[in-house]
This record gives sequence, structure tokens and C-alpha cells, in this order.
Amino acid sequence: MAALNGKCLCGGVSFTVAAPTHLDSCHCADCRRWSGGPNISLDFSAVDFKSDKTLAWFQNSDWAERGFCKTCGSSLFYRLIEDHSKMTVCAGAVDGISDDVKITKEFFIEQKPAFYDFAGERERLTGAEVFALYSAEEDS
Ligand SMILES: [Zn+2]
Ligand SMILES: [Zn+2]
Repeated sequence: MAALNGKCLCGGVSFTVAAPTHLDSCHCADCRRWSGGPNISLDFSAVDFKSDKTLAWFQNSDWAERGFCKTCGSSLFYRLIEDHSKMTVCAGAVDGISDDVKITKEFFIEQKPAFYDFAGERERLTGAEVFALYSAEEDS
């Protein structure tokens, strides 16, 4: 699968990641505070770092932490504390995502503010449905 390049605003963090087949989005309050708006990201992926010299992590929940550039402030990654091997990647940091790639899920729809909506039809899950989905995957 083709690899795409990604980087933060200042270039202190740069990486490659496999070209995504779909994107996810999250409307939760933490994602919006972190991203400055709704978060759109590549699903959990293996990231190959070219440079991580300005990468820092902030743990915002009991189960996950968020990676950002400590020089330029770009929001970049989300990973589970129990498994650092894969992380979601903010779509805005990745170059060359194909026009064929669409957002297929909206997470935490009940936390979405009224002042924006994503056009089009796709799966929209509440926070409770998101937790049920991922704990079911862990059990299987
Ligand atoms: Zn940076
Ligand atoms: Zn979120």
C-alpha cells in the first residue's frame, strides 16, 4: 500500500503512514478542545517516524494520550496507553489523501455543538456506542 508523508507545521515531527482507505471523525469535547474543531483522523495506523524530536504527549484520560508538536503546537496523534504500536493520525497533518477517501464514521455525535454539521450520510455513533464497539472488538 502506498505510504503518505505527514508533518507538523514546523517540520520537527515528520513521518510516513500507509495511505488510508477511510477517515473517522470525532465531535467529543476533548477532541474539539485539542484540535480547535472537530477531529478528523486516520484510523489506528503504524506510523514510521522520520523525525520525532519535537513530539510530546499529553495524557487526557485514563486510557489514552495525545501527541503534539511542542514547538509549533500541531495536533498529530492519539494512542491508547496500553498499546503504543498504533495511533490515529490527524488527517490535517498528512499530505496527499486521495479524493476517494471519505469520512465513514462520526463519533460522540451527542457532544457535537449545533454550530456545525458534516454534510452527507454516514454512521453516527454516540459515546456509549463507541465504547461498546471497541470493547466488543477487544473481546473478540
Ligand atoms: Zn512542529
Ligand atoms: Zn474525541
